Amino acid sequence: MTNMLDTTKKNIVIAGAGFGGITAALLLNKAFRHQQALRNQYNLLVVNNHHSHLYTPALYEIAAIPQGHHALDYVKSSIAVPLAEIFNRTHVQWLENQIIAIDRATKTLRFDNGKSISYEYLILALGAETSYFNIPGAREYSFPLKTFADGVKLRDRVQEIIESAEPVATVVVAGAGASGVEVAAEFENFCSKMRKLNPAKAICKIKVILVEAGPQILAGFDTWVVDKAIKRLRCIGVEIKTGVAITAVENTRVILKDGSVIPASALVWAGGVQAAGVLKTLGLPLSPKGSVTVDQFLRAEPKVYAVGDNAGFMNLETQKPLPWNAVAAEEEAHVASANIIADILGSSPRPYNPPKKYPFILAVGRKYAIADLVFAHISGLPAWLLKQLIELKYFFFILPPLQALSTWWKYITVARSND
Ligand SMILES: Cc1cc2nc3c(=O)[nH]c(=O)nc-3n(C[C@H](O)[C@H](O)[C@H](O)COP(=O)(O)OP(=O)(O)OC[C@H]3O[C@@H](n4cnc5c(N)ncnc54)[C@H](O)[C@@H]3O)c2cc1C
Repeated sequence: MTNMLDTTKKNIVIAGAGFGGITAALLLNKAFRHQQALRNQYNLLVVNNHHSHLYTPALYEIAAIPQGHHALDYVKSSIAVPLAEIFNRTHVQWLENQIIAIDRATKTLRFDNGKSISYEYLILALGAETSYFNIPGAREYSFPLKTFADGVKLRDRVQEIIESAEPVATVVVAGAGASGVEVAAEFENFCSKMRKLNPAKAICKIKVILVEAGPQILAGFDTWVVDKAIKRLRCIGVEIKTGVAITAVENTRVILKDGSVIPASALVWAGGVQAAGVLKTLGLPLSPKGSVTVDQFLRAEPKVYAVGDNAGFMNLETQKPLPWNAVAAEEEAHVASANIIADILGSSPRPYNPPKKYPFILAVGRKYAIADLVFAHISGLPAWLLKQLIELKYFFFILPPLQALSTWWKYITVARSND
């Protein structure tokens, strides 16, 4: 954590240490390493509301790992990487602070502890937060899946249900986007692992119902992926209800628009996200999902850039906003950081040319995944292994080699514990 910033220098501030923020910080660090002039003029600062960086694509596993199998700290260290490790021996300084407002007139970020910091350049990389669409009871009675703590709370509740005296209980997953599908598929695993761990004990059978308001699951994915996922979900016993919105949630019931009621022992909320609420304080044009409108250089205004879930970037070729995923966030971070350096050096900025679609690997229960690699489709164990290799590659990018390997190996041992 940063003790003291050099006040004789201006600040390049990266707000948020997720996929976009970490990538931008490490790329700017590279430029700082090679150019003394940059180091002389600027501090490079990351502000994040947590002292670690969460690898969200693996969060679904955490929600299905039996308690006590590994110490919680061990599980946490397999997917939450301390910023101190990432930025050790770099020119990046970091602060653990909640940003509550961004004042463009004075070019300052205000924190919840009353302090503030000024910026010369700013990259907005604050990600997204869970959206409950004002559905009565949804926030109060559901389990979101956005943070490590969310994953653990959900795991604890599901384990409590599995160990209850009930013969069958229902878990409803609201929202059949990628994270809804991944977590719904994982509970079957969880039950059978619990059965293996306590063969003498009667355990509750969990019935998982995936509820989606849209006409199909995995909106925006290729038909091949959707068909494969439906087949796989049915095969592992997940019931799919599409075209039916949730209108209200009570303690033990989920009420649907068609008037039907599902008694539910737990509701997982994967129903939607919106960009970080603090972006509203900018006073800049926002998209319907709350991201900041940016130009082709990812600029919201001179010297202010937005990446990842914060960038309201319109793909001119498809005439659609870009999907929110880790790959897009990383690619945009490359462009935004290069454009900051270009602006400082007085050279031309480079536009972001997004691909027509991004590769994506969807884990669908046990060690089975469905991969749309854009140039090819694969499924099953090879796709799951590829997902793990991509995670390893990412850890190599953000950490020194030994730490990367050790973090990844921890994750593999954790992921194997619900086999
Ligand atoms: C459960 C789950 C599974 C996912 N699986 C995949 C997947 O398999 N593949 C994929 O490509 N994408 C996946 N995604 C989406 C992916 O995580 C996001 O699109 C990506 O993280 C966006 O990157 P980002 O840098 O914009 O934001 P994030 O990575 O979300 O980072 C934002 C950072 O800002 C911090 N922050 C937020 N508000 C404040 C504040 N006010 N003050 C200070 N700090 C703040 C947050 O704590 C966080 O560290 C998944 C998302 C979830 C929730």
